[in-house]
Amino acid sequence: MVDTAITLEPGLYVTATPIGNLGDITYRAVVAMKSADLILCEDTRQTAKLCAAYDIRTPRSPYHDHNGDRVRPGIIKKLQDGASICLVSDAGTPLISDPGYKLVRDARDAGVKVMPLPGPCAAIAAMSAGGAPSDQFFFAGFPPAKSGARSKFLTGLFDIAVTLVFYETGPRLVASLHAMAAAFGDRHAAVARELTKMHEDYREGPLSALAEHYDHTPAKGEIVIIVHPDQPKTASPEEIDRFLVDALQTMRVKDAANAAAQSLGISRSIAYSRALQLKDGA
Ligand code: SAM
Repeated sequence: MVDTAITLEPGLYVTATPIGNLGDITYRAVVAMKSADLILCEDTRQTAKLCAAYDIRTPRSPYHDHNGDRVRPGIIKKLQDGASICLVSDAGTPLISDPGYKLVRDARDAGVKVMPLPGPCAAIAAMSAGGAPSDQFFFAGFPPAKSGARSKFLTGLFDIAVTLVFYETGPRLVASLHAMAAAFGDRHAAVARELTKMHEDYREGPLSALAEHYDHTPAKGEIVIIVHPDQPKTASPEEIDRFLVDALQTMRVKDAANAAAQSLGISRSIAYSRALQLKDGA
């Protein structure tokens, strides 16, 4: 149990909270929440559970999409007067598909210090254990709910050649998986569900197979969809040999190798040495 309150530097602390497992909160986040003058919550009832678990008694007040425009000037005034305020959402990192962007923007414009207190984020958690190429990825947030807007949104992502990460809800999962298969082709994907919770689950497969599975077994809970990048086609040794044997009937070794490299997407040197072997009857 963290029971140390400290004197916090004035400013806005953008504070990540657990996405399921209550243990996933940083020591620094608990100290800041205990020590701040105020905690701004997406939903005060949700944050009350976290505060009860960590004996955080700081006053709480709502900040969300419906009251943001009205309460923001007062919050900025408090910050300018030297308050230390934590901003939390219901789960994970504020601003990541959650409220807070305009508050952070206005605080920065007003010269207020804004500090991240990093921690859980469903997209990062899903990527960290999902097995998709992770050196680069594109976080696309929630696809639109209406089918026309969703197709347009997904088609716009077609040319992005890295792993795509989406947030989704159970009731819309199947429609989104079908729409992704239509927009991207039947790419390999993973559905990461209920991360850090009792029924945590990863399921992998082609988009169409995942859609079929969840059509029969409706998914409950919170979901991240990970779509792998389109795989460059790799030719098998048999395909390379077939191509080269055919090409060598009418072409010189060098030209056959060049044609194979271009058509099959393999290296010229590999195509050349295999073409030589075939020519020599190897
Ligand atoms: N700010 C949060 C974050 O940092 O991840 C995301 C908030 S967004 C309103 C909620 C969405 O995040 C859910 O619909 C789901 O797509 C995803 N999500 C949140 N918690 C999750 C969990 N435990 N497992 C899988 N996805 C989760």
